[in-house]
Amino acid sequence: MERVVEIDKISFENEFEKSLRPTSWDDYIGQDKIKRNLKVFIEASKKREECLDHALFFGPPGLGKTTLAYIISNEMKANIKMTAAPMIEKSGDLAAILTNLEEGDILFIDEIHRLSPAIEEILYPAMEDFRLDIIIGSGPAAQTIKIDLPRFTLIGATTRAGMISSPLRDRFGMHFRLQFYNKLELSQIIIKASHKLNKICHDDGALEIARRSRGTPRIALRLLKRVRDFADVEDEEKITKTRCDYALEELGVNDLGFDELDLNYLQLLIDAKGKALGLSTLSAALSEDEGTIEDVIEPYLLANGYMQRTSRGRVATAKCYELFKLTPLEIGGLFTKKGGENR
Ligand code: ADP
Repeated sequence: MERVVEIDKISFENEFEKSLRPTSWDDYIGQDKIKRNLKVFIEASKKREECLDHALFFGPPGLGKTTLAYIISNEMKANIKMTAAPMIEKSGDLAAILTNLEEGDILFIDEIHRLSPAIEEILYPAMEDFRLDIIIGSGPAAQTIKIDLPRFTLIGATTRAGMISSPLRDRFGMHFRLQFYNKLELSQIIIKASHKLNKICHDDGALEIARRSRGTPRIALRLLKRVRDFADVEDEEKITKTRCDYALEELGVNDLGFDELDLNYLQLLIDAKGKALGLSTLSAALSEDEGTIEDVIEPYLLANGYMQRTSRGRVATAKCYELFKLTPLEIGGLFTKKGGENR
């Protein structure tokens, strides 16, 4: 079954998202500090009639990295070219992209931590000196040809801050870490989107969807879309809280936004009785690949204090035991159910 709160690791545009994607700062809710800073840097570079410095966005999928890149391109009145690291397999792929850029263009590379070292090497002079170094031939007869590139802005997005190499990271003049959204911010996003969809969502309904969206706009919008289906089938003009409650229950999203996979993950940590679990163990037990666990499941659970990552592995926190109505007991690794009953 498709996971309702699933988020694609590489966000290819789908029509629904595209139609709801904010194009200006006014529609981009939250991430206030990033917005404030970017506005200053954009203003300054426009005043100097220069390209914006290269920018790197970190954060779990669906938090608005691609959207920020689009807004920057609008604000800079620049063209934007989108690609993702897995699509750049050979050095020739990157050379073709770079040589097709025009002065002032923005190049967006999603999942930039997945570039191979050989491709990264080509990117360094392009980012620093706007120059492409192409090596022709091999061995002692090899020659380097240097091609001047137009000045451009590279915007990189990554879900894995730790996996991006430091030489690449250092070549970005601006680093921004996106945060999960709070419920009020998400409910504003939901209400704005519902207006665009001509199916207005009541405030309390939007808050209910927001509560179950794991702090992520992409999930909020996806849940809104599903709830709208339920309302449409019932011929309801607006989206009410009752319809939201019903639809979300039907979709199997609990009131913290956790679905079965999150709960199974946390249950494994609880069952380990205080022993730290490694990523590979969790991956095998859940039949999910390690990347999904690290990029999609863990960031929200970590940010909300349900688990910890230690040098020995992953462990459940007191908040996690609370969630399962258990109290951690230090005696012999036993856990008691609240109210005294042993488990
Ligand atoms: P990422 O690139 O981080 O995976 P996206 O930028 O593709 O995420 O965002 C996913 C969807 O969520 C977009 O379609 C956009 O409509 C919506 N979205 C993201 N951030 C915001 C925001 N701050 N305000 C309003 N909508 C947002």
